Amino acid sequence: MRTWAVVPTLVACGIWGCSSASDGGPAGSSAGQNNGGGSSSAGQSSNAGQPSNAGQSASAGQSSNAGGGNAAGAAGAGGAANTAGSANQWEWPTYEQAAQGPKSTRVLIVLLDFSDTDIGKLLPQPEPGWSELVFGTKQGQGNHFWYQTSGGQFQLLRAAETGGLANDGVISVKLSTPQPVDGTFVVQDQTWIPEALDKAKAVVDFASFDKSADGIIQNSELSVMFVLNLPYARINGAGAEANIPINHLIAGTNVTLEKFARVEDDYTSIGTPMHELGHHILGLKHGPAPSDHDLMGLGAYAEDPVLTTLHDSTSHYATRPTGLHGLNKLAAGFVQPTHITETTRGLKLYAPETGKAYNVLELPVVDGFLYLENRTAWGYDQSIPFCDGHQGGIFPIDASQYLSPLDIPGISKYPPLASFDLPDEVFCDFYALSGHNGSFSLGPWTIENVSAPGPVMTLDLVKKDVAPKITHYKFRYWIINPNKEGYRMWHQVEATANGNTPIDFATFPFGDDATGYFTISLESYYDTGEVRSVNVDSVWTSDSPYVSLNTVSEFTNPGAFRKDRIIQIALNPAATHVTSAKVNVSVGSFQTSFTLNNIPQ
Ligand SMILES: [Zn+2]
Repeated sequence: MRTWAVVPTLVACGIWGCSSASDGGPAGSSAGQNNGGGSSSAGQSSNAGQPSNAGQSASAGQSSNAGGGNAAGAAGAGGAANTAGSANQWEWPTYEQAAQGPKSTRVLIVLLDFSDTDIGKLLPQPEPGWSELVFGTKQGQGNHFWYQTSGGQFQLLRAAETGGLANDGVISVKLSTPQPVDGTFVVQDQTWIPEALDKAKAVVDFASFDKSADGIIQNSELSVMFVLNLPYARINGAGAEANIPINHLIAGTNVTLEKFARVEDDYTSIGTPMHELGHHILGLKHGPAPSDHDLMGLGAYAEDPVLTTLHDSTSHYATRPTGLHGLNKLAAGFVQPTHITETTRGLKLYAPETGKAYNVLELPVVDGFLYLENRTAWGYDQSIPFCDGHQGGIFPIDASQYLSPLDIPGISKYPPLASFDLPDEVFCDFYALSGHNGSFSLGPWTIENVSAPGPVMTLDLVKKDVAPKITHYKFRYWIINPNKEGYRMWHQVEATANGNTPIDFATFPFGDDATGYFTISLESYYDTGEVRSVNVDSVWTSDSPYVSLNTVSEFTNPGAFRKDRIIQIALNPAATHVTSAKVNVSVGSFQTSFTLNNIPQ
């Protein structure tokens, strides 16, 4: 099956691939707006550069050469790779307080071997290795990362267990069946996970985690993540996944594990495991491009220049994931937004490094909010790909139908164009500082007098008395990116009132395949800069029985405010083939049309 257009949630994931079973949500909920950088298959190059070369110095990585080791466990230091000498300037909870936070969650790591495999051949002493990787508080270890990105409010808590080293949160289980040598396997459909849970019962008192005593172990009560000793080539799906339903009644107990997460045995750096736990524990979703400044996007794979993966001392892959962006911190409950309704000058935005002072501004725009936060090249956020030597800036996110980082110059640049493409975004268009995108407007708001970057930035928010109105419409659909093989990009083209727009089917990804999956959107452009899909209110009518326009599903993305709908272009093999067809589109009193050419058979 060609899955280019139907697995948009994977596009934010890099070489290892990743996904969350719960990401699917409404079918292709992010299909409308997700980023243009989608590779045709996230798993395509999986494991490239991740040789399972046993024998690499195993434990050299995480604990010994941690750059920020001195900050480990230190309250006030932000647990951080301390940048300036101002570590104690900001108030941080202690690690103990973080562990006691209401969001902190018990986690059990299960190292899963087959009857004929041994994870210890990849990574000597895998139990302490994984325990430190996930629960450790040094640079490059899981709880150090969470301490920093949660402002000291969230920790992974070692599950009580008696397997191997007791209570380190990691157990080892050996299955009765050998590792498969060919084919691919949907992990949750095999005997592996149920058998592993039944065996784990010998060293884990699962019922003790069922705090609600409803017989179900929810993720919030105990999150179980399996480390599979199974080559990626044998897996049907992504190399890592969270929120996978299993609903297994653990033999000899009266409790059922609802869901599990899994990673591969050679994902021995925090990026992918913490990304999956972000899905699994905090319910976080992938976001639209550019996503390389967030754990729930490409930022999961960022590299620390010093730290390496545990099993490969030459690989830095995913050792310094970027923190969460502000909307994910809101979704996780780490911060409450500061709602602004009137002109306010001299507002202060505190960056994550300021601990408890960190804040996010929330400004009303059409059917949603514009959120503003300050981020600096500090701690894990040193992995934010700032441009031109910048060290920080204000990041706006436009949250209406999608939680979209805002292309600041694009607010005024794109609407007047008859057509435009969005190939690779330029990341420095997505933040502001003095002298760089230092003034812009969206909705009734003008952001101006943005200061130089730093732990505290200031800005003015000036509100105009305007009633936003739609001035025009554009069609939006995927086309082949001619400059990057295997990639697609968004194409936007004007939809004129009572006019007709030619659209060449041959430019669609897999546009020569009559059985392919194709979508199109109609978007409204407001005179105040907002762009919103009107698919929910639109009517699409084809003049040929060979071409049908299906309104697939209506949905509201998690954390979003306005509904959207997938509009699918489908070709009907039972009807007579035509090479060209006209589609009429209306929304309210607005009428337009497009003509598809080069329709395949
Ligand atoms: Zn994911």
